[in-house]
Amino acid sequence: MFNALLIYKSEEQQSVAISSQEQQALPEGDVLVRVDYSTINYKDALAITGAAPVVRSFPMVPGIDLAGVVEESSHSRWQAGDKVVLNGWGVGEAHWGGLSQYARLKGDWLVPLPEAFDSRQAMIIGTAGYTAGLCVNALVDHGVSPEDGEILVTGASGGVGSIAIALLAAAGYQVVASTGKVAETEYLHALGASEIIDRATLSASGKPMQRERWAGVVDAVGGHTLANACAQTRYRGALAACGLAESMDFPTSVAPFILRGVTLYGIDSVMAPLAPRERAWARLARDLKAQTLESVATDITLAQAPDVAADVLAGKIKGRLVVDVN
Ligand code: NDP
Repeated sequence: MFNALLIYKSEEQQSVAISSQEQQALPEGDVLVRVDYSTINYKDALAITGAAPVVRSFPMVPGIDLAGVVEESSHSRWQAGDKVVLNGWGVGEAHWGGLSQYARLKGDWLVPLPEAFDSRQAMIIGTAGYTAGLCVNALVDHGVSPEDGEILVTGASGGVGSIAIALLAAAGYQVVASTGKVAETEYLHALGASEIIDRATLSASGKPMQRERWAGVVDAVGGHTLANACAQTRYRGALAACGLAESMDFPTSVAPFILRGVTLYGIDSVMAPLAPRERAWARLARDLKAQTLESVATDITLAQAPDVAADVLAGKIKGRLVVDVN
């Protein structure tokens, strides 16, 4: 028997509770993982609260990421005792996820826990941090270098934003953090931001072409903010868009793309192939210090997950929520 958080749905009513389950209840898969830690990402908060139709079948164990130890495997890459990390692949949406003491998964979905981290540290990073790694790699691969100018990070105090700031600063970039929490100025400076701006300066409707400022952008919020960021990106600069915390909308024009050669990269962490996953984790392992990780972490229990999910959607959380499932 093991404990898991379960989301139930009946006649449009959704409820969430910790439930004791037998291993036979787990979905199909060739690797059984004993979970050490999971996390609450923005998408987990949507799933747990039911604020968006993230969950595709019920009952569902939420948790789009996990770190743990392989207990049984019939997959060629994994053996009992291997330390592994999982991000995405529809886990926590269509396949029982990480907010559980056990998960049965496809071995193809797993990556090895980087040697630099223990399983808690890997989940301080979690899917938000791994996505930040994908975003930074997109800018670096585009050719944006520290000499090219400032990098804007939106949703700066959130999970993606916090880790993106730390990664960019470690790689030598000058980072400008856009936040709704100006009281977190010290936190954002400590992560490596050189300047903090109020997100209200970006969240109203603006002209499609504005004064050029950003050599690159990591955007976690979408909406007018992403539109304004495009309008302010320098000639041949690039943006990596991964999120919708402000809005799913993208009210802009083609002007920045056809007149300034701006490139907008879409970042998806869920179905990303193994190679970009491992490259993102390699950057995280190289550039994130233990002290930085502690500064962004808040530890919670499985029982606290439903309450904090609402706070995530209200934008009240700073950094990353790590869930000790045991
Ligand atoms: P968090 O909740 O940790 O952070 C989101 C941050 O966005 C908040 O902390 C806040 O930062 C800012 N924010 C919240 N509400 C608004 C608003 N109304 N307008 C503008 N800014 C707002 O979420 P994550 O960092 O985990 O995820 C960020 C986004 O990235 C989410 O939309 C998530 O779904 C998406 N995502 C996408 C992935 C992908 O594969 N594409 C993977 C992981 C995440 P502040 O107060 O500093 O402004």
